This record gives sequence, C-alpha cells and structure tokens, in this order.
Amino acid sequence: MTQVVTRFAPSPTGHLHIGGARTAIFCWLLARHSGGRFHLRIEDTDLLRSKQEYTDSILASMRWLGLDWDGELTYQTQRADVYNRYVDKLLETGHAYWCSCTPEEVEAMREEARQNGLKPRYNGRCRERNLGPGEGHCVRLKAPVAGKVVFDDLVKGKIAVDVTELDDMVIRRADGMPTYNMAVVVDDYEMGITHVVRGDDHVSNTPRQILIYEALGLPVPRFGHVPMILGPDRQKLSKRHGARAVIEYQQDGLLPQALVNYLVRLGWSHGNQELFTKEELIEYFDGTNLNPAAAAFDPAKLEWCNAHFMRELPLPELAALVAPFVEEAGLGALPQEKLEPLCVMFRERANNLKALGEAFRPLVVPVAELSYVEKDTAKHFTDAGKAHLQALSAVFAACEPFTAEALEAALNAYVADNGLKFKEVAPPLRTALMGFMGGSHLNEIMAFLGKQETLARLQRAMG
Ligand code: GLU
Repeated sequence: MTQVVTRFAPSPTGHLHIGGARTAIFCWLLARHSGGRFHLRIEDTDLLRSKQEYTDSILASMRWLGLDWDGELTYQTQRADVYNRYVDKLLETGHAYWCSCTPEEVEAMREEARQNGLKPRYNGRCRERNLGPGEGHCVRLKAPVAGKVVFDDLVKGKIAVDVTELDDMVIRRADGMPTYNMAVVVDDYEMGITHVVRGDDHVSNTPRQILIYEALGLPVPRFGHVPMILGPDRQKLSKRHGARAVIEYQQDGLLPQALVNYLVRLGWSHGNQELFTKEELIEYFDGTNLNPAAAAFDPAKLEWCNAHFMRELPLPELAALVAPFVEEAGLGALPQEKLEPLCVMFRERANNLKALGEAFRPLVVPVAELSYVEKDTAKHFTDAGKAHLQALSAVFAACEPFTAEALEAALNAYVADNGLKFKEVAPPLRTALMGFMGGSHLNEIMAFLGKQETLARLQRAMG
C-alpha cells in the first residue's frame, strides 16, 4: 500500500462546523487506513477575519473528535517567504511574469471580454513585456494558451477544464503577499501531501493549482472534492437544521464517536452498515465509495447514532462523561457511586448526555424540591391511590435490607396478597417517587433513593 499523506487546512474564521469536520474525518481516516500521515495546517492569511480564538476552538474540536494530527501545526502566515521563493523560481524559469496592470485596467479587460460574450479574464497584456519588480507590480503565472487540465477526482470522477477558462492568475499580489492558490500548492508539496481532500467549494481552484504544480515541475497529488451537506429539506444547511459548530454538539451532550460515525456515513458507505467502531472505519475507509451527490443532514439519525454509542459505553466511562452535564443542570457534583446507578436506570431513555443528566433530576433533588406534573398527580393521587401509598409505606418501612431485590419482592407480595393488579398500585407509587409517570424500574428507584427518602416521598404525596 502506498503511503498516503493527507491534510486538513481550515481557515480560522469561525468554529469548526460539521461540514469541515466531515472533511477532516475523511482526511484523517484515509491517512490512518494506510498507516500514513495526517497534517493540520491553519490557513490564516485572511488577517481581518482570522482569529486565534477560532484556531484554538478548531484544535479543541479536532482533539474532541479524536482526530490527532502528525507533526507540527503549520500556519500559513509564517510562511510567506517560503511561498515567495517558489514565485521567484517561476519567474526565473519563465513560468511567471511581472504585471503592472492596475485593478482598474484588469476590470476593464474583464468587462471587454464580457461584452464580447467571453468569460471575464485578464488579457495577458504584460505576458511578453519583460517587466521587472516595481511599485504596484504583481506576479502572474504564464498559463498555457491551449489544452486541458484533467484530473481524476476521488469523489466526482474525471474532471476536464479547458485552459482558456483559466487566465494568467496572480500568484503574488502587488503588496508582496503570495496568493491563496500559490500558498496551497507550495504547502501541499512541501508537506508531501498525496491526497488533497476538501469541500467542493474548492473544485474550481484545483485546475489553477494543477497549473502551478506543472509550472514548478512538481508531482500533482490526487484530489477529492466532497459535496456539501444539505439540510433535511435539501436546501443549504441552515443553523436550525444542524449547520452548527462541533463545539455546540459537544455542549449538547453528543459523543464524539457518534458524530464521527454519523458524519462519515453522510457521504460514504460500506455496504449497508450504519454503525462502525473506530477500528472498522479505519479498516474500511480507503477513499472509495464516496458519494458524489450531496447528502442531507438528518438530526434524528444523529440522535439514534448517539443513543447507540451511549449504550455501548462502559458504565464508569458513561458516568464520568455525564458528570459535567449533571453539574451544569444545577444538580451538583455527584460521586461516581451515585452516577453509575443513575446511568443504569436512565441510559436507555436518553439520546444524549445532556438529556441523561437532566433525567436524573427527580432522583437527585430533595423531596421538597421534587416537582409534580399536575396531570399525573390529579390522575393518580386519588383516595384509592393514597390508600395504596399508605399501605406501601408500612411495607417498605419493614423492608430490610432496602435493596432492589427485596423491594421487588415486597411490592409483588403486596399486589398478590391483596388481590390487586400491578397497574392499580404502580402509577401512584411512580408519581410519588418521580413526580410524574416516568423513570425506571420502581424497585431500582427506591433502592437508589434509600428508605428515608422513599418514605418521605410517599408521605409528601399523601399530602
Ligand atoms: N482553507 C480552506 C478552507 O477552509 C481549505 C482549502 C484546502 O483544503 O485546500 O476552505
């Protein structure tokens, strides 16, 4: 297997969103699949919009997703000299030239082309003028005048672009800064990137970048352009429909392995398999079976996926992960020996860590703070219901040891000995313990609460 080297190259102009995260995951998997390398490059040349806080946030999201990168982080702003060395090389070899045209002049050329029904383009006025550096001079690539740029996209298949569509692009601006396409080519070459996988908003840059590789005499990497993620309505993904930052999903209590699994499947398939371990993803993801059609984001499937991974987690791990959400819900710092039984009771009933932490509330607050759902108390705290609670108080008071097993036996005996049906007894008891008709097994709830708290809840319910 040839060694694959990939990179993820975010611009730190915002947090890492799910579209970018999916690209990063694809790049990471492709590298890990072949035992290759995965690099991270911060494309921070837009000085106005780039912010350190976004770089920090992107790195935090990458770490949270488990996307470890190899080697040092690269920042494009620190590499202008490197890019310019390559621009100089292109000038020396006659593959680039100085251009003195002002922006107004270039605009006039574009306008003229438009009026002639052609694609707006620079008309090559300075191509053969042999100008040198000077105030306001930029450097342009001397692009071939005929032929096609052809590449075999990993996702989209063969793409061919006629060079007449591509004018002599600027590779160093008049202020001395190399342009984006120039920087990317130099970086990708110097980092030894074999596979450039990125969003398909960059597909129009690729033929231009290939011309730069060719002018420099450098090997051209493979390219793969991943379609964007659409909303469930197949329109541009909106905030309401999930166009959110990875960090927001983290705050909502999603598990990183669920988000990774979900995003990988959104645009890639391995037969009909929906759920994968990390090891399986690494084993199967070889850059094939990427879907060229844009996929629609499905929040319900993401929740389903998350619920699956929550069930798979070893209990101590789940308890540790839910702890901060419990605190955030205002329920305090619960010890592991309380968190674990709570997780056992509620893990099947919550699709994310936030909901799981919140589900603990009725069992964690003191009896006086237990809030009742009016509809349930009205229905179940009837005279008959209260009579059962009265009788059960005596049954449970006598229950020793106060364990889930003993409580189950005591409750069953109460129902059987009095010729009752479970559904006559359970609803008032459940409402007394939880404040509403929800929760887990009654015996587990009571064992968790302990005798004193259980009896106090029955007492309060009886009024
Ligand atoms: N910095 C670009 C972006 O965030 C990525 C460019 C690339 O991957 O080549 O869209």
